[in-house]
Amino acid sequence: MNGALLLKPFKTHQRKLQYFLQIDSYTSQLTKEKAQTHSLTSLQCGTLLQLFTNSKSYHKGKQLHAHMISSGLLVENTYLNTKLSSFYAICGNMSEARIIFNDIILKNSFSLNCMIRGYACNGFSLDSLALYREMLFFGQKADNFTYPFVLKACGDLLDVEIGRKIHSEIVIRGLESDIYVGNSLLSMYSKCRDMEAARKMFDRMPIRDLTSWNTMISGYTKNGNPEGALLIFSLMSRSGERADCATLVTVLPACANMRAWKLGRQMHGYIIRNNYGLHISVINSLIYVYCNCNFMVYARWLFEKYERDTVSWNSMILGYAKSGDAFESLRHFNQMLSEGIEPDQVTFIAVLGACDQITALQFGMSVHAFLTRKGFSVHTIVGTALGNLYAKCGRLGCSCQVFEEMPEKNLISWSAMIAAYGLHGKGREAIAVFNQMKAMNIRPDEVTFTSVLSACSHAGLVNEGCDIFYKIAKEYDMERKVEHYSCMVDLLGRAGRLDEAYKLIKTMEVKPTHDIWASLLFACRVHHNVKLAEIAALNAFDLNPKAVVPYISLSNIYAVEKRWDDVERVRAIVRSKGLKKQPGCSYVELEKVVHCFSVGDKSHPQSESIYSKLEDLHWQLKEAGYTPDTSSVLYDVNEEVKEKMLWDHSERLAIAFALINTAPRTVITITKNLRICCDCHTVTKLISKHLGREIIMRDAHRFHHFKNGICSCGDYW
Ligand code: ZN
Ligand code: ZN
Repeated sequence: MNGALLLKPFKTHQRKLQYFLQIDSYTSQLTKEKAQTHSLTSLQCGTLLQLFTNSKSYHKGKQLHAHMISSGLLVENTYLNTKLSSFYAICGNMSEARIIFNDIILKNSFSLNCMIRGYACNGFSLDSLALYREMLFFGQKADNFTYPFVLKACGDLLDVEIGRKIHSEIVIRGLESDIYVGNSLLSMYSKCRDMEAARKMFDRMPIRDLTSWNTMISGYTKNGNPEGALLIFSLMSRSGERADCATLVTVLPACANMRAWKLGRQMHGYIIRNNYGLHISVINSLIYVYCNCNFMVYARWLFEKYERDTVSWNSMILGYAKSGDAFESLRHFNQMLSEGIEPDQVTFIAVLGACDQITALQFGMSVHAFLTRKGFSVHTIVGTALGNLYAKCGRLGCSCQVFEEMPEKNLISWSAMIAAYGLHGKGREAIAVFNQMKAMNIRPDEVTFTSVLSACSHAGLVNEGCDIFYKIAKEYDMERKVEHYSCMVDLLGRAGRLDEAYKLIKTMEVKPTHDIWASLLFACRVHHNVKLAEIAALNAFDLNPKAVVPYISLSNIYAVEKRWDDVERVRAIVRSKGLKKQPGCSYVELEKVVHCFSVGDKSHPQSESIYSKLEDLHWQLKEAGYTPDTSSVLYDVNEEVKEKMLWDHSERLAIAFALINTAPRTVITITKNLRICCDCHTVTKLISKHLGREIIMRDAHRFHHFKNGICSCGDYW
């Protein structure tokens, strides 16, 4: 402490003052008695107060305050009262500061600045601005100590209009070129999401320091403009300014969002050259870049080489889940727990997301138990992720229960509940939740509308769907998005109102997507409308030439009409383009282990018994009158081979595996990455009837509950 230096001017009272400092720092208890016997002068108190203000020593300052009251030093002493109110303002006790401040008759700019700063830094932005106005009203001049805090208050209030007015006052006062004021302006504009104004200000700055560059980069990143952030960063590198840790942790997320992995790699080099690898936040940001760009190998390398914390683990768990490797994601979670690292909300959301990709219900349930023990399960975001997982694993009841138990529900939780009902074909329940949400005065957003429309479409509620679709624009004054149209086309198509669906596509306010045409095509297939199917197919081919599904649909439609030449023509196109169906795979969980099957998979240890079970099933079902629908087989092979190819489908392997390994009447839950094919749908219905098994299958579109030979989807999916 530089106490000795400060004491120099007060030679005569040195002993008393030293005594005071001593008791202050060593006995820390200033008793009234001692204070009275060693009374301090007002100048000494001022010096001490300044000392305590600079070091924000709140308790010491309060003791001194008590001493000054008891010794009567504060009476009509503007000097001390100013210092004292500033002390409280800087320490954040604004009510105490204000009481003292109000009694000061001659308020100088120092005390005003301290109060403005205190208000701005302690969340009382409006008071800060009010005092600033008062200051001007009484003819005091604001200076480069006032403006940074007034601007901070504007930024916190997100009030760019007042911010602009203050900016013009700054220009008039000639303070715009002051670097602190300039940086505060940048920060204010970027908080108010006006990056254009921030950029103009930035370009006008005669001198810039590292804070100016960092403020701009983080402003662009936070406002969802990673291109802007990277542009400023390249200007910064060219200007010769060197990046520090703060720069790196703002530029790297921009790289991640832009998937600019090349720049990420350059930054990686820079980080190593400049020894920033010791900063865990920098390494975490770099891991995040690699995870987002799907370079899990590099991410893993960094993760294993450097020090790691919860954030690093979260990045890895989320990174693997996002890159489609849910198994690796869950393995990392297990490892994290075994290393004794405390998981947080983000971890749980990532883990639950990974579980729902592979329908790891039992794993998810043990995570739920863990969450309950840790008290996380009632948290809105985690609870929503948990409810989502249950819904996607086919346990709608559990999903509802989690939702009911959540003490606070936000827009996302409501929308997720609506989506969950929709996924399971419970349209009426979804609409009921939607109405309940409206009754709670929660305004639906576009995602909510997509969920509720999709629920209507899965349940075939045409009138209700049309009504809601109409209300999006009329009642809520919102733009109807592609997703909303997509649901409507599906809804009308399902109901066989193909012409209406086609008309809707033609009058869309946005450009129709490949998926919209594909769903019209699918409806045409179900309702045998070849003419419209051809139109839909051509549009779908145009918009995504690499998607094979529309070709299959069209060829199926021709096949039903027995137009074999056309079937062959479409198949020839598929062959000449070298298009292949995305490999299908199905998951089934057994005792917390998820088993994955691909088409014709023979890698499973139980492969032999699975195939002989399938052979059994085949004959059993044939006797029950099953005739295969080979239309989904695109290859030019004879019927017998086609039929054999159907029996290789991943969902059948998964079902056979589950039948072998579970007790009779156990519900079987299967997840498939693609839409279930017609023949598998028929076979599953038959299995549910003849083997008395309830089978829940989640495909890329929805849930199918197979029971007693009937599917909940009503054969439209
Ligand atoms: Zn199939
Ligand atoms: Zn179904």
